[in-house]
Amino acid sequence: MTEETPITTAQRLQPQLVDHFMHLIGTQRLSHAYLFNGMDGTGRQDLALTIALRLFCQNVTPAGFPCGQCAECRRIIAGDHPDVIRVVPDGQRIKVDQVRYLKAEFSKSAVEGNQKIFIVDQIERMTTGAANSLLKFIEEPVGNTVALLLTANKNLILPTILSRTQIVDLLPVAPKELAAALAEVGVAPSQQNLLATLTESVAAAQDLLAEDWLKNAQKSIEHWFTACCQGDERAFVRVQTDLLPLAINRDRQGILLDMIVQIWHDALRQQTGAVDPQTLTYPQVAQASQQIAQRLGVDRLVAVVTLTLATRGQLAGNLNFQAILEALTLQILAQIPRR
Ligand SMILES: [Zn+2]
Repeated sequence: MTEETPITTAQRLQPQLVDHFMHLIGTQRLSHAYLFNGMDGTGRQDLALTIALRLFCQNVTPAGFPCGQCAECRRIIAGDHPDVIRVVPDGQRIKVDQVRYLKAEFSKSAVEGNQKIFIVDQIERMTTGAANSLLKFIEEPVGNTVALLLTANKNLILPTILSRTQIVDLLPVAPKELAAALAEVGVAPSQQNLLATLTESVAAAQDLLAEDWLKNAQKSIEHWFTACCQGDERAFVRVQTDLLPLAINRDRQGILLDMIVQIWHDALRQQTGAVDPQTLTYPQVAQASQQIAQRLGVDRLVAVVTLTLATRGQLAGNLNFQAILEALTLQILAQIPRR
């Protein structure tokens, strides 16, 4: 049996996207910044590496694929090519020295040729400072460079990055099986969209559903959100009375913040046009979400979504959950116009 390479893995998991990108490179139509959005197990890193291999391979196959054997291919696979810059976060965040390294590399031209490629995984874990330097690069690329940004959840990415990259959604490997399995364990249709944004497996979904945790969390966040939308300062009190009891560990704190990002993301989606309520993560508050979208306007709504994303990042920095959630609530209330 031949050994699996990033090329064969990418072809197995994402055959259409591999063909698509090989064709783009073959016809010199590759853009300079992409966001690959795909859960773990969808092959987002293998796809990115296959693109890097194709750009540098000295012995491209007649069908237009990298050979995986030549000196350039072998150096890339070994992680030892000076013009293929890969960053994977170390723990919860992309670290300051990793950002410094990236910035320095952004400003250099390619070492050996005129081609350079950046692959940054889990960019949802970037700090705002790191994201800003990345944005600067995306807007003013130096030389013949390509940036491939990778994430497991594009809903956690700053809107400014989303709007400047071409977004490529990597389909889950077996979406039908997951949906069917969720239905089988009794997940209500109203919870399916939300769960799909929070988990990657049936087991993880079942864990959230146990003892009605998800149901209670969903209700509590809906109440908190509705109070926020009305500019009602009781939203602040709800943090302690409703949300804190659900934040039983670091993992659930993260899930709660992801859920808060999602509810404001629903409003942002409704801002940009008519949306089928069945596709929202919180269909039960579709009306409140649509009204607040209209009242806030796109700029203030983007500001609120950015605040929720920044708060999600603060949790990774070991700050106190209650404190950051209360601060977020006050900042959101400050954005809501008084009637
Ligand atoms: Zn090669």
